[in-house]
Amino acid sequence: MILDRLLVLEKKISMWFNTWLGEEPLINTFGHTDYITSHLHMTVKELILDNEWNISYEVQPYINSSLPAISGEDDKMVWCDDLKGHFTTSSATNKIRHIKPVLHWPSKIWKPFMHPSITSNIWKLIQGIFVDDVKRVKQGYYMVSKCCICKQSQDSMEHLLWSCNFSKSIWQWLGNIFHFNNPISFDDVFNFAKHKSPIIKEVWLTTACATLRELWFQKNKMFFENVQPNLNRFKSRIISLVHYGGYKMQGVRWHQDYDYQILQYFNVPGKYNTSNTIKESFWYGPAEGVVLFCCDGAAFGNPGNAWFGIITRSHDCQVLGTISGGLVVTTNYIAEVMAVVCAIEWAITLSCRNILINSDSQSVVTDFKSGNIPLFIKARWLRACQYLYEILYIHCYREINFSADSLAKEGARLNLGERIQHAGRPSSLSNIEMPDTIYYRFC
Ligand SMILES: [Zn+2]
Repeated sequence: MILDRLLVLEKKISMWFNTWLGEEPLINTFGHTDYITSHLHMTVKELILDNEWNISYEVQPYINSSLPAISGEDDKMVWCDDLKGHFTTSSATNKIRHIKPVLHWPSKIWKPFMHPSITSNIWKLIQGIFVDDVKRVKQGYYMVSKCCICKQSQDSMEHLLWSCNFSKSIWQWLGNIFHFNNPISFDDVFNFAKHKSPIIKEVWLTTACATLRELWFQKNKMFFENVQPNLNRFKSRIISLVHYGGYKMQGVRWHQDYDYQILQYFNVPGKYNTSNTIKESFWYGPAEGVVLFCCDGAAFGNPGNAWFGIITRSHDCQVLGTISGGLVVTTNYIAEVMAVVCAIEWAITLSCRNILINSDSQSVVTDFKSGNIPLFIKARWLRACQYLYEILYIHCYREINFSADSLAKEGARLNLGERIQHAGRPSSLSNIEMPDTIYYRFC
């Protein structure tokens, strides 16, 4: 027996002390009532008769959420902290470690095209590993603070990087090249080139990070070696750093003057994307006696609101029916898995025995083939499979699974658990896949 949640200990899941219903053992919710005290050793197995739930009226008050599906399989031990119930050292480590919030910026600066000496210094700047007057005052020094570059404002890293007159003229110069405003924070640096070509993103990040590092180093040079700041020398240094950084950049350029001018300015070669090819794909109906279920699931955000769509086709390519459904907030992967399980359950109500499941998610198809699917739905899937003779899982390209995709999008306006089901082809479905038609995909 596999229950949706937990685990099984030698066929003895305790009714009261194991977590099998809801998020915690029932004893935590109800405490030691008279009934529980007199039935302390009760097991979940006692509630099951012929693979169906058989709840007596005395137990009824303790069942406060919907009961999990019973698959009829043998008991097995599962690890609750993994989606698929597998124990891994990494998930165990995750469970016991102290989890700090995920930082968004490290992945933005540790890039293969950036020189490690630039990245490591930006890392120090963001982490606050530097000394400025603000820090020294905090440490208890009494001092008159003055920026040693512009000599007009108090010294701080914030001022030095973003609002010192010298820095502002450098950002102004770069802003004229890239057509950006002056950045005033690291977030600006990371976001400015968001909608530019891959090579421009790399050039901008290298330029901005090299500038930040040089602004910091320049202060040290002035402070310790009395080397006066010089705008032209500074600009030449940035141009040369970006030029040499260009040898490690892999991004492609777009066919536009903007890319051309910037790459030309920094003397970075940049290559055009020549690997785009268009391939032909064909859609085929199922063999005679087999019913095809094309499934698609989608989530807006990952995780986010999710929905799914299923279209079923007979061997002569007729549309037998469609379903669009809304799901809880979940990931794309779970939405795809739910679509497949719902298709199999639907196949039973349609009295199909041999079915073909089409999904455009390769990982979902692989997982269903090996039975390695998320635990919370596994019992439902196993139970449904018992009613069918044969299920084949096939991966198909997105470009020939568009009718399921548009049905899934219809589900976007539905609430959790709501479904729209049609017998035959709904009028809203204007396009369906047909054999002998060439479909194209870019790869
Ligand atoms: Zn200044």
